[in-house]
Amino acid sequence: MTTESLPDYPAAVLAAARAAELAGRLPAPTAEVLGDVFPYEADLTVVPLEPPVLPEPDRADLTAESCGSCRRQDSDFLWTSEHFRLAGITSRMRLGVHGFMLWTRQHGDLTELAEPAVAELGPVLVAVERAITEAIDGVGRVHLIRWGDGSAHLHWWFLARPVGLLQLRGTGLTGWLDVLPPLPDEVAAAGAAAVADRLAAG
Ligand SMILES: [Zn+2]
Repeated sequence: MTTESLPDYPAAVLAAARAAELAGRLPAPTAEVLGDVFPYEADLTVVPLEPPVLPEPDRADLTAESCGSCRRQDSDFLWTSEHFRLAGITSRMRLGVHGFMLWTRQHGDLTELAEPAVAELGPVLVAVERAITEAIDGVGRVHLIRWGDGSAHLHWWFLARPVGLLQLRGTGLTGWLDVLPPLPDEVAAAGAAAVADRLAAG
C-alpha cells in the first residue's frame, strides 16, 4: 500500500520518521534518551522502519472457536470469578520476574466487553494488584499492561517489579524481560500459590 492511501495518523508518523532517517535508518538514540532503564549500551543500530502493512494480518485466537484461551478449563487458572480468570505465567513464559495474566471469560476486545464484566473490571484489577503486592514479599511496583497485538482474546499483564531494581522501572522492565534469566521454578510456583491464596481469601 502506498503512503498516499494511508490514514492521516499513520501517514504523519511515517512521514516524520522518513524525514529523520539517515541512509534509510533512524538515528540511534543517545545515552540521554535511553535514560537509566534501558538494558543496552551504545552503539546501537536502529532497524529499518518497514513500510506499513494494510490490512494487518490476523491476530492469534481471532474467533472463540479457534481461541486457545476459550478452550482452557478453570482448573488451569490460579483464580477465577464470574467474568475473569487469572493465570500464572512466570514459568510458562520463562519470565525473570513474577508475571500474571488476567483473562476475560468473554471472547473479544475491550470495546466489546459486556456490561456485567465492565462493572467487575475495576474491582478485579485492584484485587489482583493488591494480592500480588501483599502476597509476594519485595514487590516494588506492579506493572499493569494491556497490549492485545498477540491474542485477540482480551487480557492484561501484571508484571511484579522486584523492589530496589530501579533499572526495571517503567518501560525498562519489558526490555529487561529479554535479558533476565527465568525465575527459578520454585520461586515462581511459590509466588503463584501465594497470590492464589490471597485472592481466594477475598
Ligand atoms: Zn477466546
